[in-house]
Amino acid sequence: TDPARIRNFCIIAHIDHGKSTLADRMLEVTGIIEARQMRAQYLDRMDIERERGITIKSQNVRLPWSPREGEHAGVEHVLDMIDTPGHVDFTYEVSRSLAACEGAVLLVDAAQGIEAQTLANLYLAIENDLTIIPVLNKIDLPAAQPEKYAAEIAHIIGCDPDDVLRVSGKTGEGVPELLDRIVERIPAPTGVDEGPARAMIFDSVYDIYRGVITYVRVVDGRINSRDRIKMMSTGATHELLEIGVISPEPKPVEGLGVGEVGYFITGVKDVRQSKVGDTVTLQHAAATEAIGGYSDPKPMVYSGLYPVDGSDYQLLREALDKLLLNDAALTYEPETSAALGFGFRVGFLGLLHLEIVRERLERESNLSLISTAPNVVYRVEMEDGSEHVVTNPSDWPHGKMNAIYEPVVNATVIAPSDYTGTIMELCQSRRGSLSGMDYLSESRVELRYTLPLGEIIFDFFDALKSRTRGYASLDYAEAGEQQSDLVKVDILLQGEAVDAFSSIVHKDKAYSYGVMMAGKLRELIPRQQFEVPIQAAVGARVIARETVRAIRKDVLAKCYGGDISRKRKLLEKQKEGKKRMKMVGRVEVPQEAFVAALSNA
Ligand code: GDP
Ligand code: MG
Repeated sequence: TDPARIRNFCIIAHIDHGKSTLADRMLEVTGIIEARQMRAQYLDRMDIERERGITIKSQNVRLPWSPREGEHAGVEHVLDMIDTPGHVDFTYEVSRSLAACEGAVLLVDAAQGIEAQTLANLYLAIENDLTIIPVLNKIDLPAAQPEKYAAEIAHIIGCDPDDVLRVSGKTGEGVPELLDRIVERIPAPTGVDEGPARAMIFDSVYDIYRGVITYVRVVDGRINSRDRIKMMSTGATHELLEIGVISPEPKPVEGLGVGEVGYFITGVKDVRQSKVGDTVTLQHAAATEAIGGYSDPKPMVYSGLYPVDGSDYQLLREALDKLLLNDAALTYEPETSAALGFGFRVGFLGLLHLEIVRERLERESNLSLISTAPNVVYRVEMEDGSEHVVTNPSDWPHGKMNAIYEPVVNATVIAPSDYTGTIMELCQSRRGSLSGMDYLSESRVELRYTLPLGEIIFDFFDALKSRTRGYASLDYAEAGEQQSDLVKVDILLQGEAVDAFSSIVHKDKAYSYGVMMAGKLRELIPRQQFEVPIQAAVGARVIARETVRAIRKDVLAKCYGGDISRKRKLLEKQKEGKKRMKMVGRVEVPQEAFVAALSNA
């Protein structure tokens, strides 16, 4: 394809503002899919995406479009659209998708206005020098306020409110006009036609039938179906089994040239051999310089994953190995917990990633899992000059510490201005510091905070939503680390620390964490035949204490008389109950107590 007739664009928006639905309409309007084959969120191919109604993986599709008027009227163009995931955990994928485009459709819900992720994605697009096409969506809604929000958008990106297009992904209104504008405004790709081939990987997915499918955007030169390709980050070479474009299903082609977006298959079985952000070149005429910007995904949050039934350990390992083929951001290594047995310490991009991985493991491998309270990564400098990177509270070092560092993020909250006070209160209680504040309009405010990541990974978003009656939106991006006064709080049962309950918290919060956990466990641990003291301690210093009083539990006491079968039943039942108990020293702790104590800790 002549690059002059190619337009590469992505759709960026806050979650739920209607990207996937608009993409559906574009598939229909351009005629590559017939109405009767249509299903909602056509490009969200994973079950979990369809059920949750969210996009996890980026998707791309090639659309033919001949503008109806203007200088390109009647000339068929090739539009390559990339539907991006909207959630903060997947910002890395969004940024790679953006790097594969020249333009972005900035989609804003006409009943909601600009939200935190709208801004975050907009800034990413501006950093990538993309041409922005502002669009208000859902204009069919009775609650839509297109005038108000067009002004908001115009104010943020510095355009005329009349330049903001109005569409409905639901009814299709305005979609042809949007496609026309994409051809008119977004620049055609430029690249060196005769140079050594270079293509950037913006996504790679594992398919059980075909192995890894790698999505690329060719920057320079050409990759043909019979070429042998080379990955620039590792030097590994592969034979191409297939090269093609998605429209809307995969279609093999002879090759891909400058500016084209497509996929290839090499037969590798592991997405880590085709890394997002890497540059692909040809083995026989290799480029010397990679396209910039590649970085490995970095786990931000760790949690222990344990099978509820210890004999499922091997099954869990196999399930993780399988998931890894699909998810280059996942990391894990075996760990043992005195309380929970054998399991894995797993690294995630964020909490949504954790939830998704956990759900897929449980669903696809039929496993029942306990996950320990998530924690971030700490760096501890000791007085003797050694340094520890702590991904598990039980590895917290002993001895004299010089300094402790924790990761921080730059967070953006957008909300109606009435809630400014309550949002500030919440951020302060989470050790945040205000770095800026702007009014988007008279009634809506943008607050910028620097916050410790460890303070927002638990229930910050829920707390924010409930304090603002659902009106606040949040986005954050990592922003290095800060030195903090952190301590490890241990929870002891009968004098024995239960590793799964240890947590790293700020010094000022150690007491309230200790009291909360001890109180929770007193409710959750059944009475035993002896007294069970529950203590929270920082080092050797006990900061909170509760006691589970002793009881003589005699299940037979209630049934005097000679009903043997009834007695047997009760004894059987008691035995079954035992199986679901974990022994911590002499103390029996029901499985459910771990689950309950570790949830929303
Ligand atoms: P995404 O998260 O940005 O991909 O958003 P989706 O496309 O999944 O849409 C989120 C919700 O908004 C879904 O319930 C859609 O049916 C609905 N929606 C999307 N576009 C429109 C629209 O133009 N009008 C109306 N009324 N609803 C829409
Ligand atoms: Mg979507």
